[in-house]
Amino acid sequence: MDIKSQVLAYKNQMIQDLAGLVSFNSINEGPVDGYPFGLANKEVLEMALSLFEKNGLKTKNLDYYCGFGEIGQGEQLIGILAHLDVVPAGEGWNTDPFALTIKDGKMYGRGTTDDKGAVIASLYALKILQDNNIPLNKRIRLIVGCNEETGSKCLKHYVKQEGHIDLGFTPDGNFPGIYGEKGGMKGIFASRNTKIIDIQGGEAINAVCNKVEVKLPLHSFDEALLKEFFDTHKIEYSISKSDVITLIVKGVAAHASMPHLGVNAISYLFKGLEYAKFEDDFVTYYNMVIGIHTDGTLSGVKCEDQYGALTFNVGVIKMVDGVIEGTIDIRYPVTANPQELLDKLNATMTNEYGYIKSSSFGKSLFFDPNSPMVTALVSAYRSVTNDYTSEPEVIGGGTYSKGINNCIAFGCEFPGDNCHIHDANEFLEIDKFLLQTEIYVQAILNLLAI
Ligand SMILES: [Zn+2]
Repeated sequence: MDIKSQVLAYKNQMIQDLAGLVSFNSINEGPVDGYPFGLANKEVLEMALSLFEKNGLKTKNLDYYCGFGEIGQGEQLIGILAHLDVVPAGEGWNTDPFALTIKDGKMYGRGTTDDKGAVIASLYALKILQDNNIPLNKRIRLIVGCNEETGSKCLKHYVKQEGHIDLGFTPDGNFPGIYGEKGGMKGIFASRNTKIIDIQGGEAINAVCNKVEVKLPLHSFDEALLKEFFDTHKIEYSISKSDVITLIVKGVAAHASMPHLGVNAISYLFKGLEYAKFEDDFVTYYNMVIGIHTDGTLSGVKCEDQYGALTFNVGVIKMVDGVIEGTIDIRYPVTANPQELLDKLNATMTNEYGYIKSSSFGKSLFFDPNSPMVTALVSAYRSVTNDYTSEPEVIGGGTYSKGINNCIAFGCEFPGDNCHIHDANEFLEIDKFLLQTEIYVQAILNLLAI
């Protein structure tokens, strides 16, 4: 069975089908007329299910939260979990984000890589298995959700109605596979006393804060020392005066799972104010329990295992009714005990200067990298690509895998690629699109053999 040439024969049809899915701006608009995530998600799901049907899959729509197409028979169920919703297009596109545009072998459009391309690649993988009359001793279900980007309510709905899968993957991460995902811990810390008049910074809990604006009383710190600190650390800032001092500090954004790649504007603001002799309980608190560290050193939760270290990020800070509140986003190692870490965090960060207002944790995900399922997937990637050097990994992010049993993220980005997902000018290379499909055919063959 020459999978490569069979995939190539479907190239034009695959691109056309992908263009159809990309044409919907399927962001979460909230419930509209009984459709839980809005009309664009309703329509894109209908189009996907009609493509599934046209290609010989038995389909089911689960109340417009998600749907699936199925082939094969048997007790065991292989699941492929992709999603049809997207994040907002945002600014900075060179093409219409909802009109698939091909330039230099790349297809540009919102959702091409994340995750509509994966829906089409998986569909054609199933079609090729059928074309070859491969005996199917298990059922294979391509599940497509409409709420992955804003809470995965689609997957919760699926599991409630249809239960878990026995084997499978979500093509919504990286090759050669992600066998572990760190656990998430969230919290809010707050001030007890502060001279700060106002503070606003950051846009998302899961991003390093790249800009903070603070209002301070006149003559409350040494401006020359502040300048010295920011110049030494190459931090961009501006200062203006009226009846108060307004200070704007800029940092560098990064994903909260990799905070060391960014520069946290909030952390450098408070370190700078301390250096400039601004005396304040909250600034003391921040520098005592957080500081400029991104590994949780000062709050006592720093730890690591062989799969990675804990990360600690402050994403958003604001003042509400005279109280400053900041957000914490922690990703803890897969083998760590989250309750112990949470207890430690609460104990360290609640003192005479400030306190933890709320905190909670979610579970981590970990599969033995030598388990039959992980091995089946990784070896499919290797045999198709001949890339035996890239290793499967443990990441700090979260995918559908955390919401359903027996699933890991597998593709569809290739090692070293940056397809601008969640960013302007998202794209998918046509050659990679075909290669993904080939890998998924082989991956399913390997899973069938388990
Ligand atoms: Zn995604």
